[in-house]
Amino acid sequence: MPRYITVTSVLNKTKKRDPWFLDDYTINPYSGCAYNCLYCYIRGSKYGINMAEKLSVKTGVTDILRRQLAARARKQQQGFVVLSSVTDAYQAIEAKELLTRQVLELLLEYRFPVHIITKSPLVLRDLDLLRQINEAAILPPDLTAYQHKVFITFSFTTTDTLIARQFEPGAPDPAARLQALQACAAAGFMTGVSGMPLLPFITDMPVQLEEMYQAFHEHGARYVFPASLTLWGEQPEDSKTLVLATVKKYYPQYHDAYTRLFSQNNQVPPAYAAALKAAAATVAARYDLPSCIPFGK
Ligand code: SF4
Repeated sequence: MPRYITVTSVLNKTKKRDPWFLDDYTINPYSGCAYNCLYCYIRGSKYGINMAEKLSVKTGVTDILRRQLAARARKQQQGFVVLSSVTDAYQAIEAKELLTRQVLELLLEYRFPVHIITKSPLVLRDLDLLRQINEAAILPPDLTAYQHKVFITFSFTTTDTLIARQFEPGAPDPAARLQALQACAAAGFMTGVSGMPLLPFITDMPVQLEEMYQAFHEHGARYVFPASLTLWGEQPEDSKTLVLATVKKYYPQYHDAYTRLFSQNNQVPPAYAAALKAAAATVAARYDLPSCIPFGK
């Protein structure tokens, strides 16, 4: 039985648009996420070790969202809505709850462009609505160079099933994500990949980048956002604790290196991040996969 929670706001205005995600607004129809990725940055005591146990469905979403969208639309403040920033809008519960679908119906009515970020093939269910949004939405004045009003981004840390099972135990298999990516691209959507986080030594080596970018290219991606790992916290339910324990269990040869990488900071050291950026750019150039969403058709 899912938990239901009441909320007072659904449409969140971002302080600053992220250059990768182009988020003017975010909507998170669910609280928590059953995909339970060990590296997830929303981890912490609020959700516990198994985030699926704390997954909650927000109630009253459509009434609140209608009011919020109407107010923004009256002032012609349409902008990209990211679904979602701190949950996956297409996790299994959505098949029954249809909350994300109801959100899309309202975004269509008030003509807001949409950026879907997901690990789930369930997004294919809503291509009919997304197609209509792609026709009808109003772009913000500074983004009118874009010819698409819907972006569909699939998240990958790896294309390897075994590694995905270890670090994203509840998420759809990467092969299913690739197939969904291909279906969205074949349907004419601007589609790409969020390669976040790439796991140091485990999924970010040149040979792995080559394999992943080739697979993304072959399945219709038009862009890839590559970024390394960020780890937080020392408590049992925190991402740093969980990821380091999993590295120790499955990749003991890298455990000391991970401990060193994250000894001073939550992020990998700047030199490591710069090397990854350069390596990814080299592969990206081979497959014509820029690290931002292109303007083209
Ligand atoms: S899919 Fe995203 S929100 Fe859900 S657990 Fe994984 S990283 Fe967190």
